[in-house]
Amino acid sequence: MATYTAPVDDIAFLLTRVFDFDATMAGLPGFEEVNAELAVSVLEEAGKFAAGVLEPLNRPGDEEGCTLENGLVTTPKGVAEAYRAFAEAGWCSLSGDPEYGGQGLPRVLQILLDEMLSSANLSFGLFPGLTRGAVEAIGHHAGAELKATYLPKMISGEWTGAMALTEASAGTDLGLLSTRAVPNGDGSFAITGTKIFISSGDQDFGGNVIHLVLARLPDAPKGVKGISLFLAPKFLVNADGSLGGRNGMSVGALEHKMGIHAQPTCVMNYDGATGWLVGEPGRGLNAMFTMMNAERLFVGIQGLGIAEAANQKAVAYARERLQGHGADGTPGPVAIINHPDVRKMLLCGRAFADAARALAVWTALQMDIADRHPDEAVRREADALVALLTPVVKAAFTDFGFETAVASQQVLGGHGYIREWGMEQYVRDARIAQIYEGTNGVQAMDLVTRKLGLEGGKLPQRFFGLIKADLDAALPSAGAALVTPMAEALARLEGATARLAANGGAIEAGAAATDYLRLFALVAFGWMWVRMAAAAAGHAATPVEQRKAALARFFMERMLPQTVGLDAALAYGAPSLMALHADAF
Ligand SMILES: Cc1cc2nc3c(=O)[nH]c(=O)nc-3n(C[C@H](O)[C@H](O)[C@H](O)COP(=O)(O)OP(=O)(O)OC[C@H]3O[C@@H](n4cnc5c(N)ncnc54)[C@H](O)[C@@H]3O)c2cc1C
Repeated sequence: MATYTAPVDDIAFLLTRVFDFDATMAGLPGFEEVNAELAVSVLEEAGKFAAGVLEPLNRPGDEEGCTLENGLVTTPKGVAEAYRAFAEAGWCSLSGDPEYGGQGLPRVLQILLDEMLSSANLSFGLFPGLTRGAVEAIGHHAGAELKATYLPKMISGEWTGAMALTEASAGTDLGLLSTRAVPNGDGSFAITGTKIFISSGDQDFGGNVIHLVLARLPDAPKGVKGISLFLAPKFLVNADGSLGGRNGMSVGALEHKMGIHAQPTCVMNYDGATGWLVGEPGRGLNAMFTMMNAERLFVGIQGLGIAEAANQKAVAYARERLQGHGADGTPGPVAIINHPDVRKMLLCGRAFADAARALAVWTALQMDIADRHPDEAVRREADALVALLTPVVKAAFTDFGFETAVASQQVLGGHGYIREWGMEQYVRDARIAQIYEGTNGVQAMDLVTRKLGLEGGKLPQRFFGLIKADLDAALPSAGAALVTPMAEALARLEGATARLAANGGAIEAGAAATDYLRLFALVAFGWMWVRMAAAAAGHAATPVEQRKAALARFFMERMLPQTVGLDAALAYGAPSLMALHADAF
């Protein structure tokens, strides 16, 4: 069975033909030397590491799982060595701040590396993914001393990071959390409480594990305003930067899970653990949001990564598996890739993955612009677009990613249900991405209740304006057969957005949220398909370009029409959702 191949040809197409990567980089101070050629050569190497080192550990890691004995976590055979090799090769520091030893490369490269990690080994990818999120929160909100002590070793990958929010009674509603932090009188705090579901809560790679913990100070008000953020390391750090004694925290248990078995998801006990405040007291959730936003994009990319890997495997299988006569009368047995229904499953996955990768690159470019553009107004505008797209990337990529994993499993028939082929692992591993980092329902609420209102409610119009301008520009090359259905779908999205603005109210927003987010995502994917088809038009030189025209048409004809149904459902509003009394369910 074919193994994973990093989609470097598609990446090269995106960076050189769809987005003018070189010109964007040339306008960003510090990135003048970065260009598509460099990006592709770096990502080619990343692809080799993902396929050659990480993917071979994926199934054994799933079968072996993590263990906890005498308080020590052990990851599956080979994971610790692979992590150290990954860090030594410089992959942990790719986009890290050069002030603290990072390589300072753009987000675009980071997001594409993250996709490859997620395709090859989702459990493994969480270690560097969470560390990077913690680095961002510390970098934005911690004082100089904490930054100097922790950032260099986290960026290099010598130390890993974890994010400790969830408690048994505080999941989505973090305002309910009860972990306490009491001042020690020397600038540090004693943290006491139990957190559950903490990914990468511990590891056996060596070095330190840096926990960012949400807790309440004494006399803090109830609710989210009473939450502060603390940095608590597994090992206290000596003045010279070396590791000191164990801090007052321990792994109480490992969660038994449906998937990501090679990832230690920990119950963490903090028993007077020494920690330091990150950011201002009472503003912990704000500081943690820096980490959570980074993680939400990362989790969205996990959905894309799984979809890419599952689709590749399903295509390879469908080319070889012989069953039945051809629908065109070809005597059988024929390869199942010839059956229209099998083709539909494969095309849905590919049309999603290609569009999602393009949208991920577009979003990462906005992040790079938001970080570095010399004009503050441009930076602000780009930042708002990233905020708008964050819940869409997180929820839509993971929903379509899971759907792609299931459809790819279906392509293998009974063999998809059997362990040996690896498909059932993709399904199990993909499922968590729809749940953690804020469930997809909560992402949809974020989109409709917060993000649509940014810039005084004008942000969505600004985004839709970008799409319209691209549709107009693409008409001559992409053609009316692609542009017209997209313009109609965009009009549906604009109508649904206007209805939401007019019929506001929490119940209508909650009732609309997930359907609206899917409608939004389909339009954004269609936008990317028009751009890709326009870029490929007249250049059928490579297999990538040949694929683009066929997939763009498939997307417009067989996926985008979902927007009609979503729009119709949205138009009915909340009443039918709220009619049944809770006792009568
Ligand atoms: C494997 C795994 C790894 C994890 N890793 C981490 C980690 O590293 N760090 C960490 O802190 N946490 C982590 N989590 C926790 C995860 O983020 C939470 O499970 C998730 O945010 C949902 O919280 P909950 O489980 O309490 O569900 P609940 O909040 O109880 O939600 C249950 C359902 O109700 C819905 N719901 C809840 N509130 C609302 C609302 N206001 N409006 C509409 N719908 C609502 C939800 O969408 C969901 O469908 C992890 C969880 C798992 C399973």
